Amino acid sequence: MQTELADFIRDTPQGREADAILRKCVHCGFCSATCPTYQLLGDELDSPRGRIYLIKQALEGAPVTARTRLHLDRCLTCRACESTCPSGVQYGRLADIGRAVVEERAARGAWDRLKRAALAFALPRRALFTAMLRLGRQFRFLLPGIIPAPAAPAGDWPPRRHARRMLALAGCVQPALAPRINAAAARVLDRCGISLIDAPGAGCCGALRFHLNFQEQGREDMRALIDAWWPYVEGGEVEAIVMTASGCGATVKEYGHLLARDPAYRDKAARISAMTRDLSEVVPAAALPKAAGRQRIAFQSPCSLQHGQQLRGEVEALLERGGFELTPVPDAHLCCGSAGTYSILQPELSRQLRERKLAALQGGQPAAIATANIGCLTHLGAAAEVPVRHWIELLEEALQR
Ligand code: SF4
Ligand code: SF4
Repeated sequence: MQTELADFIRDTPQGREADAILRKCVHCGFCSATCPTYQLLGDELDSPRGRIYLIKQALEGAPVTARTRLHLDRCLTCRACESTCPSGVQYGRLADIGRAVVEERAARGAWDRLKRAALAFALPRRALFTAMLRLGRQFRFLLPGIIPAPAAPAGDWPPRRHARRMLALAGCVQPALAPRINAAAARVLDRCGISLIDAPGAGCCGALRFHLNFQEQGREDMRALIDAWWPYVEGGEVEAIVMTASGCGATVKEYGHLLARDPAYRDKAARISAMTRDLSEVVPAAALPKAAGRQRIAFQSPCSLQHGQQLRGEVEALLERGGFELTPVPDAHLCCGSAGTYSILQPELSRQLRERKLAALQGGQPAAIATANIGCLTHLGAAAEVPVRHWIELLEEALQR
């Protein structure tokens, strides 16, 4: 694709990166076939190719309107288009650059700004979110399907007793919504000879605010998390950083890129990214006893796992080792509609995608749905006919049987 970026961005690092990405796109449109919003809306401007064109126009200095922003807002950043693209177009990175420019040039209405600011303020603050959730649960009967049910208790966290140690990310909303996930991960890894440890003060990974287009505030969260982890990393106390939420994992693996222009943090960020692993990459299948029993479950592979981190098959192999029979899931590459705060900001599209996803997941008559990301778990769990659990919780229960 030929480009002629405008003066305001041409010679900036963002401009050079966007230009290189745009030039890779040959406008073939293969990506449209796997884009959830194009499938729902059938509008070229709600396809990856259409959005790339809108971003190109914005970077070339064409007028940016609320309509431009609407089509970018409707994008889930699921990155299914990246998995499909034969030319290696990094749509997600281009979207980050394009969204920052569009945000500056097409002002949002007051209500939209307020909603986004409230989400960016409340969600990354673990104590505040936990208090709000506790309060909301008192009135759950008024908002069925919106306020999640109380979660199972975490259970015991094993003591540090192994020479092999890895850091866990507690995260922002997960400890309140599903405290058992990280504890189950710690117990399973403990059985495999690995101690999982928590760093005090480690909070949000920054994905929430970054993807709400509060990009600089998202980077502040990233720097704060690096600071909390660094003593463990610098001293060689841990061999890896483990993510139990694939959404966080996709972001932390990109720290090296996202902080590349920050001289104080770029080296640390690159090292953190290089050490980061999804939980499915560190649970050694061979160390697990091969479990008997054939409970049928469906696995929902989050976009942040299969497209963001390009991990496919790892969780499935571990679940099969745990004795689960995985039911077939058609269109497994399509987003469930959760996508961070998308389910709140684009509720109608999100609901339609959830209906499609649940029909696909439940079509094989599973006893439960397994997933790898807290956002998908909460979003699907609000409407599913069967329990939706993190795969590590199901695996732990199978190993105990
Ligand atoms: S992003 Fe990739 S698949 Fe989509 S139009 Fe461009 S080159 Fe084709
Ligand atoms: S990231 Fe997802 S929703 Fe956005 S353009 Fe790509 S496939 Fe479509």
